[in-house]
Amino acid sequence: MTVFPAVGRAAECAELQINMKAVADNYKTLTKRFTGRTCGAVVKADAYGLGADMIVPVLKKQGCRLFFVAQANEAAELFPLLRGGGRIAVLNGVLPGDEEFFIENDVIPVLNDLEQIERWSNLCREHERPAPAFIHLDTGMSRLGLSPQDVSDLVDRHSSLLYGFEKAGYMTHPVAADEHENPITKRQFDLFMKWYRRLPPAPRGFCNSSAIFRNDDYHLEFCRPGVALWGGNPTPEAENPMRSVVTLNAKILQIREIPAEQTVGYGASWKATRKSRIATIAVGYADGWLRSLSNAGKLKIKGHEVPYVGRVSMDAITVDITDLPGKPLKSGDMVSLLDENMTVDDVASAAGTIGYEILTSLGHRYRRVYTES
Ligand SMILES: *Cc1c(COP(=O)(O)O)cnc(C)c1O
Repeated sequence: MTVFPAVGRAAECAELQINMKAVADNYKTLTKRFTGRTCGAVVKADAYGLGADMIVPVLKKQGCRLFFVAQANEAAELFPLLRGGGRIAVLNGVLPGDEEFFIENDVIPVLNDLEQIERWSNLCREHERPAPAFIHLDTGMSRLGLSPQDVSDLVDRHSSLLYGFEKAGYMTHPVAADEHENPITKRQFDLFMKWYRRLPPAPRGFCNSSAIFRNDDYHLEFCRPGVALWGGNPTPEAENPMRSVVTLNAKILQIREIPAEQTVGYGASWKATRKSRIATIAVGYADGWLRSLSNAGKLKIKGHEVPYVGRVSMDAITVDITDLPGKPLKSGDMVSLLDENMTVDDVASAAGTIGYEILTSLGHRYRRVYTES
């Protein structure tokens, strides 16, 4: 096998910058806004694709001590990062066979049904250790958590199960807190409070990123923000209170002039109506740059909008720079696809999706750079 020298910076086509100072500032902003006791952080899916190994220590340094992941295997990756403080909770719950993993490693399960509560309660009795667990009440998501019937059954018939372990807290998940006028959020909150009155006391958590900004009454004792930490706008109807975290720069591979009537890209989905200058940029759907941005995305170059033309292909996009004023671009120049002027939410809306999907799709072909500014 031939071993090639490490690829140098010159050979990289795209660079993803993740601003750790902005993540820290966003956590601070949330803790200032949050009136409850514990501001946790949701770092599932590798901190929404940004790299939990880099992000978790930054949040820990800001005082965050409660981290939520989706899956038990994600929890294991955080163990080395949390020495000296910090707990991990697993949103997907504890599935049969995984109980020992949780109890031996001090991982907190989010118990999502009566059967899980029963298994956890029995396990804690066997180990003679009231290990903590969250209990998830489903107030509208119909995804995970106890149904209204389960809550009644638990309180009326199986309440002894609730005393076998430490209740880290009760939680529920708002389904539409990003929509500021959607009355469902208040209805969910009221239901959560109504059920809580029948349960033994424990800390309560209602808020994701958006709910923190909706009503201070929703704050309760702990919260679980995710996307706002990475710069997603928790209040889409208003200016973003969070700092932008992610910048994506990519190289121009080629610039070409095409005559009117010539098409660009697969499927010939875009046709020039005039003589045009097209720049080919080194980011494609293999980098998580969604194909639904075809003929829909935009770049901003020095304040000027530059539309994507033609389909996004595996390794490249094509943009129309005919009207771009100023010094002409050339191959090898870096342009920005994602920054504070073209945010994750902007790109998401052009792609017909949400910022969460843009972030968690970001691929691993980019050179990743963690900055501190
Ligand atoms: C993902 C998730 C969150 C975080 O939501 P954001 O909208 O990213 O703040 C909070 N709670 C639960 C149960 C989740 O699944």
